[in-house]
Amino acid sequence: MFSFFPKDDHNQTLRLKRFLMAFGSYIGCIALVGFFYFQGITRATLNVLVIGSSVNIVFNLLIYAIIRTGLNKRFKDQSLTLIQMVMATFWIMLIVYYADLLRSVVLILYIVVFMFGLFKLNVWQFLFLSVFAVANYVAVLLLLYKTYPESINPKIDVLNILILAVVLPWFSLVGGYITKLRAQISHALSTIEQLAIIDDLTQVFNRRQMYKILEGQKALGDRGIHPFSICIFDLDHFKIVNDTFGHSAGDIVLRTVAQEAQKNLRNIDHIARYGGEEFILILTNLEIKEAIVCAERIRDITKKLVFDDMPKEFKITISVGVTEYRPSEFIQNAINRADKALYRAKANGRDRVEYEPSTTI
Ligand code: GH3
Ligand code: MG
Ligand code: MG
Repeated sequence: MFSFFPKDDHNQTLRLKRFLMAFGSYIGCIALVGFFYFQGITRATLNVLVIGSSVNIVFNLLIYAIIRTGLNKRFKDQSLTLIQMVMATFWIMLIVYYADLLRSVVLILYIVVFMFGLFKLNVWQFLFLSVFAVANYVAVLLLLYKTYPESINPKIDVLNILILAVVLPWFSLVGGYITKLRAQISHALSTIEQLAIIDDLTQVFNRRQMYKILEGQKALGDRGIHPFSICIFDLDHFKIVNDTFGHSAGDIVLRTVAQEAQKNLRNIDHIARYGGEEFILILTNLEIKEAIVCAERIRDITKKLVFDDMPKEFKITISVGVTEYRPSEFIQNAINRADKALYRAKANGRDRVEYEPSTTI
């Protein structure tokens, strides 16, 4: 069924909301022009008014269709901001042409149009638009001078041009600065988002993000969409590494093990730091049998790792506990099961994989 906004595309929805704001402004303008007409303060005939408004609405529907169908994604300026602003400037030109005595009042509409640039335009695009708008305005006045010379008031009209030529570039500088600030804020936000989910030392997901991913997998598992498995692994005798080579050498070992494990997972799988020197693997769409194979692979890769600044013969091993999620159980239940298997792997001599079937609790 048709929906006004796309259901799963946040950026497109934002663009359509901006479009709605612009469309609302156009409707306001059309109402204003209608008011001018009925007050008898515009030279436009009813025909010009109706045709102008209809073309404007059709143009807007076209913009909506382009964004809603996703055609806009093929353009560099995906929000179509600049083209929409150029078109809006054109519409103002038309109003200026017919507004006669109210020309000065209409100038304020340029500011309304420029406000939309705050969502996207840089200083140069703003300046381009300023030059375009002033040139348009001058062109309309020249046209009026030819066709309706009596409507020209040289003093006022020159003053209007000057005001426009000062205010719009000024707005461009401030607007461009605000656009830049917005970009910086959005960059800072995404950095903060990253910091909130990534473990600082190992650069894999942290525990909070791990639970979030597990909840997502649980939702799919509970609906029978696909199963998933969990592996918890713990570095063997890691305390000795710290005691022998120092804490910062231990840190490098920890980070290398986590990074190598991550590199060797499919990109639909996840690794998170569960705590200290323990990590959890969340293996999407994998039953326990395949999860054990994966765990064995990671164990094998880890014991072959060579570390910078460590003696060549230095090796680290991991013990792994594996289990498969049982639909509708608590996540913590599955984690406890994997933990139990890990405990057994430690007890049985370390550097090994043990599993706990999902039928046991
Ligand atoms: P086991 O094989 O039974 O797991 O022995 P272990 O020595 O690895 O286990 P234990 O729990 O006794 O020690 C874990 C060590 O991990 C102790 C702790 O100092 C160290 N550790 C935890 N987090 C970090 C960290 O961020 N950096 C470093 N360098 N060490 C850490
Ligand atoms: Mg350990
Ligand atoms: Mg431990």
